[in-house]
Amino acid sequence: MIEDMLRTPSAVRDAEKYTAHNYHPLPVVISSAEGAWLTDVDGKRYLDCLAGYSALNFGHRHPQLIAAAHAQLDRLTLTSRAFIHDQFADFCRELAELCGKDLVLPMNTGAEAVETGIKVARKWGYQVKGVTPGQANIVVAEGNFHGRTTTIVSFSTDEDARADFGPYTPGFTVVPYGDLDALTAAIDENTVAVLLEPIQGEQGVVVPPEGYLPGVRRVCTERDVLFIADEIQSGLGRTGRTFACDHEGVVPDMYLLGKALGGGIVPVSAVAANADVLGVLKPGQHGSTFGGNPLACAVAIEVVRLLATGEFQRRSAELGERLRAGLEGLVGKGLVEVRVRGLWAGLDIDPALMSGREACERLAERGVLAKDTHGSTIRLAPPLVITEEEIDLAVAQLAAVLTA
Ligand SMILES: *Cc1c(COP(=O)(O)O)cnc(C)c1O
Repeated sequence: MIEDMLRTPSAVRDAEKYTAHNYHPLPVVISSAEGAWLTDVDGKRYLDCLAGYSALNFGHRHPQLIAAAHAQLDRLTLTSRAFIHDQFADFCRELAELCGKDLVLPMNTGAEAVETGIKVARKWGYQVKGVTPGQANIVVAEGNFHGRTTTIVSFSTDEDARADFGPYTPGFTVVPYGDLDALTAAIDENTVAVLLEPIQGEQGVVVPPEGYLPGVRRVCTERDVLFIADEIQSGLGRTGRTFACDHEGVVPDMYLLGKALGGGIVPVSAVAANADVLGVLKPGQHGSTFGGNPLACAVAIEVVRLLATGEFQRRSAELGERLRAGLEGLVGKGLVEVRVRGLWAGLDIDPALMSGREACERLAERGVLAKDTHGSTIRLAPPLVITEEEIDLAVAQLAAVLTA
């Protein structure tokens, strides 16, 4: 049988056999990649329409990022923050400038950036705002995704993410996403922050109503509450702007960044804010052994430089319009609704037709890799280096899957 000659089936079996089943991956086994394309162990090529959940905004192995990583590997990889290394100041300064903020605090994963934001907001609340000790609260949104730590899942509204992981961290109030009145009503004298994704990625690229984010900004300013924007997935070019908040001219008090900041090479996350906020942290109050390490900084400096040219934001905006046109053509032909911002799309497939999982399995057979978010919703987030022809290919394969 030809199957016996292929390496994929046994590699899929072993991956299942020896791993906790906290993921349900598509049965493909990737061994190399370049740009927007992945190759599996049997030599089959796939167009990457997930881009590592937007960690690969610049594509696989972008030459400038790989060169920076190689050069740094040959010089210095880790010092810990006990000493200062020669990549650190450049990274912090250039990222702060990109964000238009005074200060940067580097961490590793997105969840750590969120945890950092929560800790800073609480300390700011007690020390600057004068909130009653132990009573700080943070307003968050239904359908949120901010990571997987015990504190973060405490305010998740996704039962899979939350159930049986308690006792839960108190101090969070959940309100419907996109409802400014509900958010305003939830703020009290002990509220230190509003924590939101400007577009909810895991929820299916849910874009809030126009005026919502500026409204949140206004209310936060009026009520002396920090606006924390989780741009870990939406930021760094994905939506056609540097930050998703830019679409509505909104500047949050704190940006939470991750995913693409590491160039698809190393985990790099960061919090960016002004000195009146991040300045509340003093030595010993927060940290990370690997946060801001030389390799991470060397790669992330080049990421920031790629973004500083504006080229990737422009590509995302322009190519996103092509993606939108293609996908909107499929509404009523298997798609119920599409939501597109830049090269980021949430597609609701007619549930009578197939689940998101089934659609992704069939797309994989046709050489396109995407991932369902839940139910019949799938997300497309190709690397921003994708070409017009490749977008057309992805849309054509989706059309074929929906009409087969
Ligand atoms: C992925 C993600 C996180 C968590 O990032 P990890 O690196 O997986 O910890 C947090 N917030 C948002 C919006 C994300 O998309």
